[in-house]
Amino acid sequence: MSLTLIWLRHDLRLADNPLFQFETPPEHLMCVYVLDRSWLTPLQGLDVPRIGPARLRFLWESLIALRGELLKRGSDLLVRVGDPETEVAELAAHHGARQVRVRREAGWDETQATARLEERLGEGVALWQSDGGLLFNEACLPMPVSALPVGFSAFRRKVERTGTVPDAAPAPVTLPPWPDAAPRGFPALVKVCSRAATWTCDGRAGLHFAGGEAEGLARLDHYLWQSGAVSRYKKTRNGLLGADFSTRFSPWLAHGCMSARQVHDAVRAWEAQHGANESSYWVIFELLWRDYFHWAARQEGPSLFGVRRLPQADEPFRAWCEGRTGLPFIDAAMGELAVTGWLSNRARQNVASYLVHELGGDWRMGAAWFEHALLDYDAASNWGNWRYVAGVGRDPRGHRFDVLWQAERYDPDGAYVAHWLPDIAKLPAGSARHRPWSVAPEHFSPPLTVPQVVPEAGQSSLIPPGVQGA
Ligand SMILES: Cc1cc2nc3c(=O)[nH]c(=O)nc-3n(C[C@H](O)[C@H](O)[C@H](O)COP(=O)(O)OP(=O)(O)OC[C@H]3O[C@@H](n4cnc5c(N)ncnc54)[C@H](O)[C@@H]3O)c2cc1C
Repeated sequence: MSLTLIWLRHDLRLADNPLFQFETPPEHLMCVYVLDRSWLTPLQGLDVPRIGPARLRFLWESLIALRGELLKRGSDLLVRVGDPETEVAELAAHHGARQVRVRREAGWDETQATARLEERLGEGVALWQSDGGLLFNEACLPMPVSALPVGFSAFRRKVERTGTVPDAAPAPVTLPPWPDAAPRGFPALVKVCSRAATWTCDGRAGLHFAGGEAEGLARLDHYLWQSGAVSRYKKTRNGLLGADFSTRFSPWLAHGCMSARQVHDAVRAWEAQHGANESSYWVIFELLWRDYFHWAARQEGPSLFGVRRLPQADEPFRAWCEGRTGLPFIDAAMGELAVTGWLSNRARQNVASYLVHELGGDWRMGAAWFEHALLDYDAASNWGNWRYVAGVGRDPRGHRFDVLWQAERYDPDGAYVAHWLPDIAKLPAGSARHRPWSVAPEHFSPPLTVPQVVPEAGQSSLIPPGVQGA
């Protein structure tokens, strides 16, 4: 019997997923996802786990949806909580897999985990790795990853001049059967983390995200074909309130429920019917940023995350996390993040700049907080953007935003801060709403609490082993 085991990580879809494309299908197939137990343990310095309840819930929804799709095609899904490479190596050995398939990831932890798995796989078990999820594979980049340009613009010009984005591949119609003796199914979310099981998005959110391939494709359909919002994207993308000022594809892209090529193909199809414009181009432009951060992370390896241990959270940092800095624009954004798990790009840039350039905070602490709080957390995009704002590494210029100017420019009547800070709504509309204020957490409705996942035993650090304490 030939058995292939697919180890899924941030690629929870069937369409355009190279892991499910076989030249010669195996006789049996196992599809496995392992929630890394260390994601549930407190972050050093922060006292919150790497994965917060919003993202964990979205992840579980995505896994449930994926299992449904796999079952329809004659396969299934096994989900476990533990040490991923240990679980995968044991399953492969126990069930006699000949091949283990996994996607190459940008994150250093994932890269290390793949290397450890390779060491543990027994003789005769091949590790098969692929790219996926991005616009370009490594093979179709016009330069080796080691020669990636330092800046995004040079990268974009090169790939736009010479690169062609391959078409997204369709989902398989059928899949090889599950081996008879192999376990299947997964633990109830409430047993993994009760906070995630009961987490609900705040009613004031512009959009309520639900995980899964079909939900991602439904959002794509809405943004392009149903609402036509794509035709206005370039003008609206700096918005702060509402559902359609930007695509909101990020959670599905980050969990791999949807690939960048699927978005690319859909935008090209929309352009064929409605005509290309600046806005439709700009959606692809932003996806190129995503590709760029991915390749930059691959090039940088562990240095993406900084080289020292995270310091202990101090009071200014806690005030930033909890939305009580006294600056309404910042507090509104951090409040939105805490109760929805999502934040617009404009707000992300401002809160990051404020932490680093005004409060003198450590950019890695900000990135770690985002890792916990964002439901679209993606290692390359998150740590890459934080480095970009802070001016660390490949682009040392740093990007400092004048937060009051930004607030008045992008929220001229204070509607955004009034939306998230009810006391501000009592002030007359206009820039007075952006004046710094002295604030206590009870100004929030409901009062802000830092979301916690019940931690389990063990320690976890964002900083990869071997580079700590430098
Ligand atoms: C400090 C900071 C941290 C960030 N952390 C993350 C993160 O963990 N995960 C994440 O997906 N994005 C991150 N971003 C990038 C960006 O803010 C989000 O991708 C975007 O706000 C998601 O909303 P959207 O899907 O409506 O984006 P749109 O504006 O509609 O863009 C379409 C897609 O392009 C990609 N994209 C857009 N801008 C960027 C960018 N600057 N960098 C990388 N990809 C981009 C995303 O996949 C996005 O879904 C971060 C930005 C900053 C400033």
